Amino acid sequence: MKQRVHGVIRGVVQGVGFRPFVYRLARELRLTGWVNNASQGVFVDVEGDPTVIAAFLRRLRHEHPPRAFIQSFEYAFLDPSGATEFVIRPSDPSGEKTALVMPDIALCDDCLRELFNPQDRRYRYPFINCTNCGPRFSIITALPYDRPHTTMRGFAMCPACQQEYDDPANRRFHAQPNACPVCGPRVALWDAEGHVTGTDEMALSLAVAALHEGKTVAVKGIGGFHLMVAASDADAVSRLRARKHREEKPLALMFPTLQTVRAVCSVDGPEEQMLTAPEAPIVLLRRLPAAQTTASVAENVAPHNPYLGVMLPYTPLHHMLLRDADRPLVATSGNLSDEPICTDEQEALHRLSGIADLFLVHNRPIVRHIDDSIVRISNGRLTTLRRARGYAPLPLRLPGTVPDLLAVGAHLKNTVAISRGRDLLVSQHLGDLETREAYEAFRTETTQMQTLFEAHPVAVVSDSHPDYLSSAYARSRQERNIPVQHHVAHVAACMVENEIRDPFLGVAWDGTGLGDDGTIWGGEFFLVRDKRFKRVAHLRTFPLPGGDQAVREPRRSALGLLYALAGADAFAWQNIIPLQAFTGSEQTTLHRMLARGINSPVTSSAGRLFDAVSALLGLRQRSSFEGQAAMELEWAADGAGTDVYPVTVTPSGTGPDGRGLPFVIDWEAMIRALIKEQQAGEPAAVIATRFHRTLAGSIVTVAQHIGCERVALTGGCFQNALLVRYTVDALTGAGFRPYLHQRIPPNDGGIAPGQIAAAAYMGLL
Ligand code: ZN
Ligand code: ZN
Ligand code: FE
Repeated sequence: MKQRVHGVIRGVVQGVGFRPFVYRLARELRLTGWVNNASQGVFVDVEGDPTVIAAFLRRLRHEHPPRAFIQSFEYAFLDPSGATEFVIRPSDPSGEKTALVMPDIALCDDCLRELFNPQDRRYRYPFINCTNCGPRFSIITALPYDRPHTTMRGFAMCPACQQEYDDPANRRFHAQPNACPVCGPRVALWDAEGHVTGTDEMALSLAVAALHEGKTVAVKGIGGFHLMVAASDADAVSRLRARKHREEKPLALMFPTLQTVRAVCSVDGPEEQMLTAPEAPIVLLRRLPAAQTTASVAENVAPHNPYLGVMLPYTPLHHMLLRDADRPLVATSGNLSDEPICTDEQEALHRLSGIADLFLVHNRPIVRHIDDSIVRISNGRLTTLRRARGYAPLPLRLPGTVPDLLAVGAHLKNTVAISRGRDLLVSQHLGDLETREAYEAFRTETTQMQTLFEAHPVAVVSDSHPDYLSSAYARSRQERNIPVQHHVAHVAACMVENEIRDPFLGVAWDGTGLGDDGTIWGGEFFLVRDKRFKRVAHLRTFPLPGGDQAVREPRRSALGLLYALAGADAFAWQNIIPLQAFTGSEQTTLHRMLARGINSPVTSSAGRLFDAVSALLGLRQRSSFEGQAAMELEWAADGAGTDVYPVTVTPSGTGPDGRGLPFVIDWEAMIRALIKEQQAGEPAAVIATRFHRTLAGSIVTVAQHIGCERVALTGGCFQNALLVRYTVDALTGAGFRPYLHQRIPPNDGGIAPGQIAAAAYMGLL
């Protein structure tokens, strides 16, 4: 089957023979489609055989004209358009100039060579950069992107730097952050009291020595601070965890080189491409079996986790630090628990006090906190789990022009979005709006995005949950407020980035979102047609004793599920693991809560169903981070066999129009069978596999009832690679066409762009 890829290449790609190069390459590979120049960069749109498309994408990166430089290449797989030849389309002068704010770009190879060339005047200068690389979004305060509008304004260029900057033939012509050891920013090492213990090379060597001794060093990077420790040092890692209040959530790693990554993880072609791309995200990689591992990463870096989050050095300072340390380092965000990452050294000294032993700082100010992006490759395709450095604030494309809108996202994994014409600009990941710091960061970034992109929103779109801080903020503004239901926003996000045509079926499975009927939704199906998102199916509901407490305690979801099945008799099943996890008096309290419906909201959440099954199988009764129980259920599955459990999909009743909508997926028979097997000693590996297959099958059954060929899969549950694989296989096998997220996260990081897309689709403007 044919594939189509649509992408935009930004960088030095205009006036350097890039379009003719793309044209020749596409012709040679017999791909159809088009290429053109636009104010944003070069757009390419090719279709053909999947293996040829893969070759095209590879060769585009490696064989382009020597004077061209790719600073960013974002693309997505879309439905084939049926193009029969390849053409160069006329240039497109439209598109907002404001869409040209570039993300931060990893150090380029030319600068890397100079960095370690003793003859170069920037030898081991930690702020070397050029037109092709370096900080952008993290230092820009206003448009146009000129030095006075960046945090480099305080550094006057020395004559040598100025000459490069003014010379059109130089690689540093108009490189706004251009600097050198004579005129530019410098590093210093501070102790925990903020006293300078060394500068420049001395700062670096003291920091490296401290890392070797197991100390925690806070390192100021491009979009904020990292906390670093030696990855092989289990004691150092557990000290860091204790201080940071981060019990088991995996920590990201920075490796010196690609070769050193290969000593610990398996890396395939597309994964290597992502690791070494200018975007330089954290890539989730499968760990090698212990016997094949030739370097040491402590187990407590990512406990019980078959994956490691890995990145390569992307700033000159990182390159120097990693080369000198000569070992992988934990490089986790410099914050306490879920607060935003620190950007300012005084703030870091205060907020990271008691966490970091030393602070490797510099005097180039950071305008906005930008975390590392996180991606995963499955089946050769990109899934973005966190969109931040390297990607933000690059726009997506709306199907048509809309008035300026601001969307403020949800509550967790918050992002904000702005529409300008047809551009949909998505902020970097801002974090969970749980703390005052996070809420302040959210407000600041919302204002800054508006100013930077000169947007004058006519309305503010928010989640329909009235109690989210983001929703309250939206109401507090003078513009009109447009509330959009949470799962509708998820579906719209998947629709807009995949350019899905209606009618289609949207499947939104996640942890929690407020439903239109006042209950908690999270296992939802919408038929998208005629400017409406109609809820056509959902998972059977069950109570969550303790409400939000169930998020941290999967055993509560399990109990709620059992109570929905058996009522008071559920408490007689004392040989069931989650019940045993409660004391007798806790059970009495919970029984009363459930019987009287006190603080026991009803939910159709798929995420809580995963939690419940994880608890029933004895995998996890309490979670130390969101999604942990469900992840462990995914990893427990061995993927063998094709058996499924019984489930029923039946209409919930007959509506006034004579049609029995919505359908309800009833998991009762599945849960009963699964408990029976568990009690009979069937391994969790087998039960977990069947559970995933069963849910995938239930999605196909609903799709068959609804009868739309196109099915969009969205929501946090579709970060589960096993669920994705089974669902995609089952849907494809049954003749459906599944769509997955690519550039926008399936989790709540996608809510803000989805809110705008939904409001536009429904014509609510
Ligand atoms: Zn460079
Ligand atoms: Zn200089
Ligand atoms: Fe969600």
